[in-house]
Amino acid sequence: MRVGCPKEIKNHEYRVGLTPGSVREYVAHGHDVLVETGAGAGIGADDNAYRAAGATIARSAEEVFAKSDMIVKVKEPQPAEWVQLREDQILYTYLHLAPDPDQTRGLIDAGVSAIAYETVTDARGGLPLLAPMSEVAGRLAIQAGATALQKANGGRGVLLGGVPGVLPGKVAIIGGGVVGLNAAKMAVGLGADVTIIDRSIPRLRELDDIFNGRVHTRYSTVEALEEECFSSDVIVGAVLIPGAAAPKLVTREMLSGMKKGAVLVDVAIDQGGCFETSHATTHSDPTYEVDGIIHYCVANMPGAVPVTSAHALNNATLHYGLQLADKGIKALVDDQNLRNGLNVHKGRITNQAVAEALGYEM
Ligand code: NAD
Repeated sequence: MRVGCPKEIKNHEYRVGLTPGSVREYVAHGHDVLVETGAGAGIGADDNAYRAAGATIARSAEEVFAKSDMIVKVKEPQPAEWVQLREDQILYTYLHLAPDPDQTRGLIDAGVSAIAYETVTDARGGLPLLAPMSEVAGRLAIQAGATALQKANGGRGVLLGGVPGVLPGKVAIIGGGVVGLNAAKMAVGLGADVTIIDRSIPRLRELDDIFNGRVHTRYSTVEALEEECFSSDVIVGAVLIPGAAAPKLVTREMLSGMKKGAVLVDVAIDQGGCFETSHATTHSDPTYEVDGIIHYCVANMPGAVPVTSAHALNNATLHYGLQLADKGIKALVDDQNLRNGLNVHKGRITNQAVAEALGYEM
């Protein structure tokens, strides 16, 4: 099959659907790969790197869309892209259709078979193509929090690791899933005093085993949240209730009990945020202050580190992408986890949650 990779056109998106390393794998499976010129510029991979991996370079996105059997991307197709998709094509990318009726209509009208990274599952019921971005965001959360904590950036002026003779800074992580675990690893690595709060006791047991006494764990109650927020320098919001908006666990009232210049990093902002005072920010203006507390609420944190993010994403998408290239749409029959990724097929919605959210018949 011919696999096509256009350059991402969404604002400030520097990742790329196929790295040169992934291209080599598709080529080794006997596929032709067509990459738009400049597609890898944001991760430092030029056209020659793609040629060396076996790709053909296309002069335009139009050429990629017109000549490819499968399109591999990162972000959901933009209006200029979805009009180029066809019924005999597979689209493999993040879609996030539930809040996006226009894109959904575009994909229905195109008749394309659209597979959403975010709904592909694994054998344990996890979301393997979302997890790498949570890993990136979790690790970045501590870098962002530590930077915002510096005096010149409006923070308290605390070094998270402390120094010999001076206590380390305190980090509270609300939600100990993929984001929370990765944030904790970074905070522990910096030498901070770390507490993870979760409402799942089995998860707290796992975290206790992983860190072997190096972090404190607490069951999530209002009392525990208040005590940890009032005593911490950095508070990371990393909760997720699948399919629902994030619960507002830290209220505006609670801000008055916190240390002036403490930092809230609301990673859950893409689900509405778990601090009442959060609103989404961008990489170009990532923080703002409410009642003396610094808020960092960037909705697409992995975009800050596209080199790492694109490689992490490709590691996760490659296995399923190769199945699709090798077998075509029949790959969905053989693999229920990949089948769960199918959101739109031949003009119909094929994902229950998307159909319900947008009022379509399945
Ligand atoms: P996850 O499902 O792995 O973990 C969520 C954890 O939250 C679970 O352990 C759950 O038990 C816990 N939780 C739920 N309700 C809670 C409560 N009331 N108190 C304490 N803990 C509670 O999810 P994840 O992959 O770690 O993602 C976390 C959030 O980060 C999601 O909203 C996700 O969309 C978001 N995210 C944001 C970015 C970004 O760029 N901003 C990037 C990746 C992920």
